[in-house]
Amino acid sequence: LKSSAAEKTYQIGTDVTFPPFEYANDNNKYVGIDIDLMKAIAKDQHFKVDIKPIGFNGAIQAVQSGQIDGMIAGMSITPERKGSFDFSTPYYNSGVVMAVAQNSKVKSLSDLRGKNVAVKTGTTGAQYAQSIQKKYGFTISTFDDSSNVYENVLTGNSVACFDDEPVLKYAITQGTKLQVVTKPAEGTPMGFGVKKGHNAELLKKFNTGLANLKKNGQYQKILDKYLNVKK
Ligand code: GLN
Repeated sequence: LKSSAAEKTYQIGTDVTFPPFEYANDNNKYVGIDIDLMKAIAKDQHFKVDIKPIGFNGAIQAVQSGQIDGMIAGMSITPERKGSFDFSTPYYNSGVVMAVAQNSKVKSLSDLRGKNVAVKTGTTGAQYAQSIQKKYGFTISTFDDSSNVYENVLTGNSVACFDDEPVLKYAITQGTKLQVVTKPAEGTPMGFGVKKGHNAELLKKFNTGLANLKKNGQYQKILDKYLNVKK
């Protein structure tokens, strides 16, 4: 057994608010699937983590500039990102959906013509909106966190937003007055990411720890705690 004094501390970036993956609870403590997984893996693999809620795009920049060692932020493993990141084995499946206000007349992409939509900077939701923007003829407002994205739709400045399905669905169960009106556009698994070619040791520890948590039931326990669904 290693003494804790010998344990390495890694700086890990995360999103500001992306429940159920990461959010500050009532005691202003960071919790969620990503946070609990990261901490349980650190414990299993004898390292320490310093969790930094610096925002999704902020975390991407900080990993790439070498300011932090890795990020866990509900991050989709995409072919483009594989050019600058090395990813862990996937730990959860997600996909981009469109949500509108509960009283909205907008029901599909073709209702977006001449309207404005909200997305979060640097996300697959933003990428997806950009990819169909010309075809459907809408404008885009970008924000740095999901709560401002949702707020923009609720206030009527945008008629729709694009975000990860499990995150939107969770927000709706928590009382956010939105509804999901499309099927996931592209299924992309989420992974822990480090700068490409850097931190191979940390990535290996993450993968080994994740496999251990899957075997010993802790992984499922963490998911159940936040989603209360079997997977
Ligand atoms: N899964 C999405 C992505 O990777 C959104 C992540 C997030 O907003 N934290 O772009």
